[in-house]
Amino acid sequence: MTEGPGAAASEALATLHRVFGYEAFRGEQEEIIEHVVAGGDALVLMPTGGGKSLCYQIPALVRPGTGVVISPLIALMQDQVDALRALGVRAGFINSTQDFGERRMVEAEFLAGELDLLYLAPERLRVEATLDLLSRGKISVFAIDEAHCVSQWGHDFRPDYLALSLLGERWPDVPRIALTATATHATHQEITQRLDLPRARHFVASFDRPNIQYRIVPKADPRKQLLSFLREEHAGDAGIVYCLSRNSVERTAEFLSSNGVEAVPYHAGLDAGTRAAHQSRFLREDGLVVVATIAFGMGIDKPDVRFVAHLDLPKSIEGYYQETGRAGRDGVSSTAWMAYGLNDVIQQRKLIQSGEGDEAFRRRASAHLDAMLALCETAQCRRGQLLAYFGQDPSAAGCGNCDTCLTPPETWDGTVAAQKVLSTVVRLQRERGQKFGAVQIVDILLGKRTGKVIQFDHDQLSVFGIGQDLVEAEWRGVIRQLLAQGLLAVEGEYGTLVLTEASGSVLRREREVPLRMEPKKPAASRSGAGS
Ligand code: ADP
Ligand code: ZN
Repeated sequence: MTEGPGAAASEALATLHRVFGYEAFRGEQEEIIEHVVAGGDALVLMPTGGGKSLCYQIPALVRPGTGVVISPLIALMQDQVDALRALGVRAGFINSTQDFGERRMVEAEFLAGELDLLYLAPERLRVEATLDLLSRGKISVFAIDEAHCVSQWGHDFRPDYLALSLLGERWPDVPRIALTATATHATHQEITQRLDLPRARHFVASFDRPNIQYRIVPKADPRKQLLSFLREEHAGDAGIVYCLSRNSVERTAEFLSSNGVEAVPYHAGLDAGTRAAHQSRFLREDGLVVVATIAFGMGIDKPDVRFVAHLDLPKSIEGYYQETGRAGRDGVSSTAWMAYGLNDVIQQRKLIQSGEGDEAFRRRASAHLDAMLALCETAQCRRGQLLAYFGQDPSAAGCGNCDTCLTPPETWDGTVAAQKVLSTVVRLQRERGQKFGAVQIVDILLGKRTGKVIQFDHDQLSVFGIGQDLVEAEWRGVIRQLLAQGLLAVEGEYGTLVLTEASGSVLRREREVPLRMEPKKPAASRSGAGS
């Protein structure tokens, strides 16, 4: 009774239709599934939202026995299992959130061969009782989700993942599939080695979305900028506008609506009925704009989203990539547009500092933000920077479909300008024991006698008025870039500016500070601040 690969393929496709209700496989799904159904090990690298789950769920359904899924995301297990059950898949989980009775029931189902999928937290496999349980049932496939957790150098290292190499020893005949969304080449090799998957076939999906044009513009009047962008390039198109706060979501949706762009709000503060209604209008109608917090978009599969706009800075490149990735799933040209400015940097830095979480959490959040800022400030190809972040090789020549490729930004030597900003911060701190935010620093540099400048006698400082070679927007640009480069930092709830360890090298003239030219920079001030 031999079944060729053809039979397995058609059974996989039939399962895709019957159970999941999808038309066709995406990308490499079909190849991956065929390989695993045939008993092969696999390492799958696919961006978030790429469709990794089906790569093990379908083999689990097609092969006899239960598919065992190792996942560190305990909080999601209940939802995942509920979603599968709603499709008629017999799924269960075992983790620390369950009471004894619940666990017993799942164990019994597994032993009776009544489970298609069993989700397990990795720490369960350290317990001999769990291994013993697994030995007494029939396993169709092991799926190791978030496989990068095995990497000691990554952000998400889980010591329990190191024990997963024993799966191959104890169950040599059960295929194993490891999946991850973020992995550099090094992590990739670490996964192969530590999970003991030497014979695994590697499936590396490209993170590139060539039909998405990436653009990041300097923020001036974001809602108006958004409106012109929509009118000029996306009139009548469906799209998503992301804002940070509920309040800003509401106001932006109203602004667009009152300016002739059909838009509805979506955020967690709206009641469930309204949210569901707006979501289903977005899916059904042509050309509706949803203005949303990041609460919107998970699991939304609308192929003809023509643009994704960000009015506020995402916290990480992962988030940015995932959100912009909702544009253009049909392969048609689409735009990822973002307005970004000094206040975004200050706000995000403040959020990290005043937010919950320990020191390690803050460090990680800062590192994520730094990478995001580097993407915003780069003078190189944005796509190249994104791909490099995910460990993939960008084209050396640039992509030709992002703003920096289409209109390469000029850079200028901002060393002197940087020194002026930093000296002002130093003077205030050393001579007066004061700390101020960006607005006051810029007023001092420009020599403006505002009420607050007079109140604090800041017109008496030696740095008062030393920055008249640049205009206000340019100084804000300089400060923004210094913050992004870590040459200046934000402190406390008022967002006061303070020096960093790296600031000293600029003040001592030990390093140069190349800066991106702010658009429409007058020629006169260029030479004034330049070398
Ligand atoms: P990942 O785990 O890679 O982040 P998921 O497996 O959650 O991605 O899939 C992302 C979304 O794409 C889900 O809503 C899923 O149902 C959908 N999806 C996956 N594969 C297909 C397909 N072949 N056809 C249509 N939708 C798909
Ligand atoms: Zn490019």
